[in-house]
Amino acid sequence: MTTIDDLPIRDDLRGRSAYGAPQLDVAVRLNTNENSYPVPDAVIDAIAKAVQAELRDLNRYPDRDAVALRTDLADYLGHGLTTANLWAANGSNEVQQQLLQAFAGPGRVALGFGPSYSMHPLLAVGTGTRWIGALRDPGFGLTPAAAVEQIREHQPDLVFLCSPNNPTGTALDPEVIDAVLAAAPGMVIVDEAYAEFARPGTPSALSLLPGHPRLVVSRTMSKAFGFAGGRLGYLAADPAVVDAVQLVRLPYHLSSLTQAAARAALAQRDALLATVDAIKAQRDRIVGTLRERGLPVADSDANFVLFATGGDQKAVWQAFLDRGVLIRDVGLPGWLRVTAGDPTETSAFLNAAEEILS
Ligand SMILES: *Cc1c(COP(=O)(O)O)cnc(C)c1O
Repeated sequence: MTTIDDLPIRDDLRGRSAYGAPQLDVAVRLNTNENSYPVPDAVIDAIAKAVQAELRDLNRYPDRDAVALRTDLADYLGHGLTTANLWAANGSNEVQQQLLQAFAGPGRVALGFGPSYSMHPLLAVGTGTRWIGALRDPGFGLTPAAAVEQIREHQPDLVFLCSPNNPTGTALDPEVIDAVLAAAPGMVIVDEAYAEFARPGTPSALSLLPGHPRLVVSRTMSKAFGFAGGRLGYLAADPAVVDAVQLVRLPYHLSSLTQAAARAALAQRDALLATVDAIKAQRDRIVGTLRERGLPVADSDANFVLFATGGDQKAVWQAFLDRGVLIRDVGLPGWLRVTAGDPTETSAFLNAAEEILS
């Protein structure tokens, strides 16, 4: 049997394994931070109509620049943003890949503060960018001074910040973003995949965009909108950044079906985002219940919770799975991450936790 190593693959990809959370057939799946609520009927009808209207024209290429969709996204974000500030792609992973292609790549350096989103280093590797794994402090926080020190040392062409941070859940203090913008010689990407779940009073980096042309805010419809299968991510930045990613994007990268479905979903945002408050309530229930049991739990501004298991997290992860509850081992010794589900799923998790952790 031929293996990867038998092929003339790039040396920097040899021996690597592909990204992937286990997609196991389990009753309660709380491992990939999806929105647990299915798409409501009214939204299904609206998306079906919008997609149907595109079908006769599938002989034609889509709008390469997705202007109507970008206009709708600007309207959703507010903050005085316009079409020229927005760019969209097949998930924010693709947006971030395009940013690396445009601003990093061979001979350049990207830096992120771990533990954070495991795709950031993988996207760097895929684009031939050297990755620097800078560190958060042992309690998972990040101070402006610690961030600046590591940036001064490595002079990265591109910095990833993640706020709220996956897998720890906590949003960054805006002072950290300010300090990083001042110290970084290159681009600063703030991945705000979970922004809609942040606790009240948590500011978005969108408010820092005016006057900061090297700042990019990355967003997605995969989490709060419950549109992970639709694959729609986007960025907000100075219009010059949008010009730059257009140099590297594939022509017609966003299908007309994706553009139509995403626009229909955005038009139905009240119905889709109606689940956010319910999910936040379940998140707060997980945090509160585990803390009552005396477990260390990170503050969460997201739709998931990172909690300490005490001892070997792999065995605890397996014990949850044995009880039909799939959560996530993010490779942090002594910690596991669980997505806040609907009330029934969350109860299943908390009941299993009661058995396993007491
Ligand atoms: C889930 C997640 C994303 C979403 O990626 P998409 O490609 O938009 O589905 C992006 N960033 C972080 C930190 C995430 O956890």
